[in-house]
Amino acid sequence: MKLYNTLSRTKEEFQPLNDKVVNMYVCGPTVYNYIHIGNARAFIVFDTVRRYLEYKGYKVNYVQNFTDIDDKIIKRAQEENVTTKELAEKYIHEYFKDADNLGIKRATVHPKATEHIEDIVKFIKILIDKGYAYVVNGNVYFETAKFKDYGKLSHKNIEELQAGARIEINEEKKNPLDFVLWKAQKPGEPAWDSPWGRGRPGWHIECSVMSTKYLGKTLDIHAGGPDLIFPHHENEIAQSEALYGQQFSKYWMHIGYLNINNEKMSKSKGNFFTVREITEKYHPEVLRLFMLMAHYRNPINFSLDLMDQANSAYERLLNAMANLKHLLTVCKERELNEEEKRIVEKFEEYKKEFEEAMDDDFNTADAISVLFEMAKTANINLSGNSSKELVKYILDMFLKLSEILGLFYRTVKTDIDDEEILALIEKRQQARKEKNWKLADEIRDRLREKGIILEDTPEGVRWKRM
Ligand SMILES: [Zn+2]
Repeated sequence: MKLYNTLSRTKEEFQPLNDKVVNMYVCGPTVYNYIHIGNARAFIVFDTVRRYLEYKGYKVNYVQNFTDIDDKIIKRAQEENVTTKELAEKYIHEYFKDADNLGIKRATVHPKATEHIEDIVKFIKILIDKGYAYVVNGNVYFETAKFKDYGKLSHKNIEELQAGARIEINEEKKNPLDFVLWKAQKPGEPAWDSPWGRGRPGWHIECSVMSTKYLGKTLDIHAGGPDLIFPHHENEIAQSEALYGQQFSKYWMHIGYLNINNEKMSKSKGNFFTVREITEKYHPEVLRLFMLMAHYRNPINFSLDLMDQANSAYERLLNAMANLKHLLTVCKERELNEEEKRIVEKFEEYKKEFEEAMDDDFNTADAISVLFEMAKTANINLSGNSSKELVKYILDMFLKLSEILGLFYRTVKTDIDDEEILALIEKRQQARKEKNWKLADEIRDRLREKGIILEDTPEGVRWKRM
């Protein structure tokens, strides 16, 4: 399996430190608002990476933090007249609502910055002792000039970084690239005790501290959005490698940018969507499919028109699976004939193609094309006369492969498992046979309340979730 490493700028063979375990850290949201679709792209992509690694047999320790103290949180809490803790708790709750909706699995640990202040203080103290950090007026800064590899992730030298950095007027810093590890308390701000006076951690330090605490000094994969390469991840490397003298992460994965209507996403331009807004209009799996239909490193353009197209694509796949589910109820058990055995071989090839696409730097775009091929082949070759065994085999493969992408599994699988729904559909069929239209309609309404839509076809009834 190959993956593209931002650190080497090449596709490398994936070899975790331990053959059976992958330790993976993904930078999580700053919890002062609902997550936007740019955040969602990163979380969906890396959830898919995790799912595929698990499919390959690895145990994945997946850590994703919550930044629950920073300037934006403080400002927003003041505006809403709540504590920063209350604000953060609220948006952590909302994050989980959106993430669950999008099929993003819970991390092994979701650590919060404010629950690791002691570890953070300890970490900074050693950086000062080792000569990598300095204290000015209760603020602590990391001295980037002391870390010789500074810039290795963004592939820039110090001069290029300085030229590109937003010049912030701060006379306390020895060098504009130095960054804050600990911020002295300003009036009205939440603060914790430290050897340098009361204050709070800077942003970058929490990820160095919490990743090491839960995953060890060298991670297998560290991942995040493209805007995090510099300075956030560059600074994480500087802090961790200065402290431990060993590589911080073997692989660095970054997604491409997400634009809206071909422009950079920006709140001030009104060019901005939260996940909540989009999933009120579309099934959450449509947004997930949309994100995975592009290669994760490519830029992606988002618009409602493109979401409509993704919606049609989603329906095509969903209908193919609904059709298979329907065939399961009408097809008879019998041995596979020669033609059907060839179809099985064809589907084994599809499975191989799917895995090859995913093995090649998680090419979900190609993997999804394979699902469409599978749908086409199933639609053409299967009918009410097919062997039930064949139908079951193909439906199982659809579910297994789409579960890797976090798609369909919940929607389609629940239907099959839901005996109550199946029993109601059967009861309605019986009522129709007996021309008891009143009962048949009542059952249809009850199913509708459960979010199930029925469609009567010459071959019997089909159903899908709304
Ligand atoms: Zn981070």
